[in-house]
Amino acid sequence: MSPVDPSSPENGTVADGLAALVADLRAALEHAKLRGVWAEDPVSVVLPEPEPADTPLPAPPEPPSAPVVPVAAGQWTALAATARREAEERMEVGSQALRLIREDLGECRRCNLCTGRSHVVFGAGSPEADLVVVGEAPGYHEDRQGEPFVGQAGQMLDKMLENVLGLPRAEVYICNIVKCRPPQNRNPLPDEVDACLPFLQRQIAALEPKVLLVLGTVAFKTLFATSQGIMRSRGIWREYSGIPAMPTLHPAYLLRQPQDKRKAFEDLQAVRARYDELGGRRSS
Ligand code: SF4
Repeated sequence: MSPVDPSSPENGTVADGLAALVADLRAALEHAKLRGVWAEDPVSVVLPEPEPADTPLPAPPEPPSAPVVPVAAGQWTALAATARREAEERMEVGSQALRLIREDLGECRRCNLCTGRSHVVFGAGSPEADLVVVGEAPGYHEDRQGEPFVGQAGQMLDKMLENVLGLPRAEVYICNIVKCRPPQNRNPLPDEVDACLPFLQRQIAALEPKVLLVLGTVAFKTLFATSQGIMRSRGIWREYSGIPAMPTLHPAYLLRQPQDKRKAFEDLQAVRARYDELGGRRSS
């Protein structure tokens, strides 16, 4: 097709017609805008605006959370009452078992230590203790009062239990290898240990503690039938009848050798960690 020459008189009518058509179209567009048919530029109405590059993705839907079952105030009271009843039953069973062992021991004359004693020092503490402390033998004050670890060494033991283990004396059970005081606080003789040991074994079996704390050479050598000294053995876990047992220094020794308190402190820290790991009870 040849281009249109608007200067040609022959094409003047065509050019005029085209100009009129453009003018009509413009008028129509203006009219449409005024009526709101195209409020915006028609191109941008058809194609959506591109998303900005940093527009965050929509968050995934939240997973359904577990339904919260409300516990009514009355239920709390019932749960607390059940826990208290169970604790009392455990205490009663433990008390009863220990009572029977004490009755069997009676006013014991199974070895020569009976001749010089004032009291049989059976043991003391909680019948539901998760920690049992085993010492050597009663001393002067213990013999007079019938309670284990009540003298200066006992005060030291109380501090060790409370300050390092976080357990007051009332929450543990304390007993000895022999239950009568040897004269002049000498070490108990083998036949005295043999006569008395079955009662300690029964006490430990009845209490079923989670951890045993073994104090000093005599207790350590007796329970583990070894000739090894406490200095080389302390701080190393053993097992006694399936119960984790920690040998450490006797409080009476620590009173004479306070520079070794650090060693006992480390042993007790290990006991605390094991006790908590095994779910040992504590009141606070
Ligand atoms: S030390 Fe033990 S076995 Fe010996 S008399 Fe005392 S309670 Fe009996």
